[in-house]
Order: sequence, then C-alpha cells, then structure tokens
Amino acid sequence: MTDDRARDLPLDAHLHTDQSPDSDVPIDAYAALAVERGIAELAITDHVDFDARDPAYEYTTFADRERVVRDAAERWAAHGVEVRFGVELTYNRHWEADVRAHLARHRYDFTIGSVHDWPDSPYVPRRVASWVAGQSLSEIVKPYFDEVAAAAQSGLFDTIAHFDVVKRYLYPHVLPADLAAQPELVDPALRAIAESSTGLEINSSGLRHRVGEAYPSAAVVARFRELGGRRVTVGSDGHRADWFAWRLDAAYAAAGAAGFESVMFRRGEAPISVAVPVRFRKPVSAPAQPA
Ligand SMILES: [Zn+2]
Ligand SMILES: [Zn+2]
Repeated sequence: MTDDRARDLPLDAHLHTDQSPDSDVPIDAYAALAVERGIAELAITDHVDFDARDPAYEYTTFADRERVVRDAAERWAAHGVEVRFGVELTYNRHWEADVRAHLARHRYDFTIGSVHDWPDSPYVPRRVASWVAGQSLSEIVKPYFDEVAAAAQSGLFDTIAHFDVVKRYLYPHVLPADLAAQPELVDPALRAIAESSTGLEINSSGLRHRVGEAYPSAAVVARFRELGGRRVTVGSDGHRADWFAWRLDAAYAAAGAAGFESVMFRRGEAPISVAVPVRFRKPVSAPAQPA
C-alpha cells in the first residue's frame, strides 16, 4: 500500500514549476509543501527543449531559471528545505550536439535526460494507431528505446527520466502488461544505462496516468539491478502542486525492493547518495543460527 502523505521521504528529484510551459506552480508552493511533509530536498527540473516545434523551446532563459531557483533556495534554506537547480533536457540523437553545447555552457546541480514523443516520431497521438497496426511489439517500441539507449550512451545526464514512458504514448493500443510480458525488449536500454553509470529514474507520475504504474515498474527496476545498474533516482514529475511527491513512496519502495539502499543525486559537482528510508529496504536474511 502506498501513502501519498508519507513523511519520511528525503528527496523529490523531478519537479516542474511555472518556468515550464506545462506547469503553473510557483516554486514556493513546492517548497512550502516540502516543509509540511518533512521532505528535506527538492530538485527543480524545468523543461529545456531543442526542437523549435517542442513546447519548451526557448520558453525561458537559463539565467531566469537559475535566478528563480537560487533565490528560492536562499529563502527556504532557513526552513530546512534544500532547493537544487536541475533541468529536464529532451534528448534525441538529432539534437545531441545542441544538448552537449548547452551543458558545456551552463552549470546545473542535477541533469535529467528524457526521451519524449519527438515531433517526427511515430508516438505523437495522430500517428500511434497506424504505427502499431500490423507491427510486432519489438518493432513498435524500438525507435523509442533506441533513443533512450543513445541518451544514456551520450554520457550527458545524471539520470534518464521515465524510462518507459512510451507505454503512455501507446496506451491503450499496447498495454503495460504486453510490455511486461516481453522484458527482453527493454534490456538493451537498461544495459546502456547501467554500463554508462547513468541513473535510472523511478518516476511515480505513471501511477496517476491511465497506465497505472510507475515509469518503470518495480519489476524493471529489479531487472536493472540484475544487469549491473547501481544508480537510481526518484521523482514525482509534479506539474501541479497536488502532484508534489505524489506516491513517491512507491518509487522508494521499488528501489528498496530491488536492493538499492540509496538513491543517487548530485548537488553541483560529484554524485552523492541519499539513503532510502529503512522501511523500504529489502530485509537482509539473517545468517543461520548454529543449532
Ligand atoms: Zn519528461
Ligand atoms: Zn518532467
């Protein structure tokens, strides 16, 4: 059972404010909720897009976003909440060079790389039905997961967001259970994330979407660990105040059940670990007592 008012969560590492085109939450609203919920740390990760057809293309400037987040960080530190300056960058191999140039010029505390339904992709709503018709599941999801693997291999990001959000784009033509039945389809992208030492985000927003499960599910998080993955992050991907940390305990639970004792984060320079609350951790089996 999850508890959307859990009070022992240390970090929400994926949040959108009114500096994203699809959110109208003032940054202080999240910080106030964090105080109320005892969540010590937040990463504000507004969208930056690189295709002029995407909504967050030049929506704000780096300077404006940095000023708003750093000012809020100063205001809220005294209340026991650390506000970090992150970003969610929409990745595609077509504009990888632009992402690289952006990150070379601008310094963030924490970077999320995301594959969304890019404008020429088969995953935009008007193309989905014809894309899935007569194709195998492997063919249907391949363009999406190929971009995810490339995002990891680019080495540009601390974490890869909402690993299998393609299940949202394909719903209801493809159901989460269809993907779960063929776990080998996601292995190459999971391996690319593990081998590049990138984090795998466990994004609880899927629990409020029709797919009804996190991006990715707990089973995929466990598979990631089996494949050598050692870094996970957690985020609610809030775009509204009432989505703040929403069912984020389920993300911590998935991390703990897979054997992760901490989540990976960054506060500027080197990666740091944030402990998963003990109640979510996998019980260590006690050594057998001599008779
Ligand atoms: Zn996203
Ligand atoms: Zn997001």
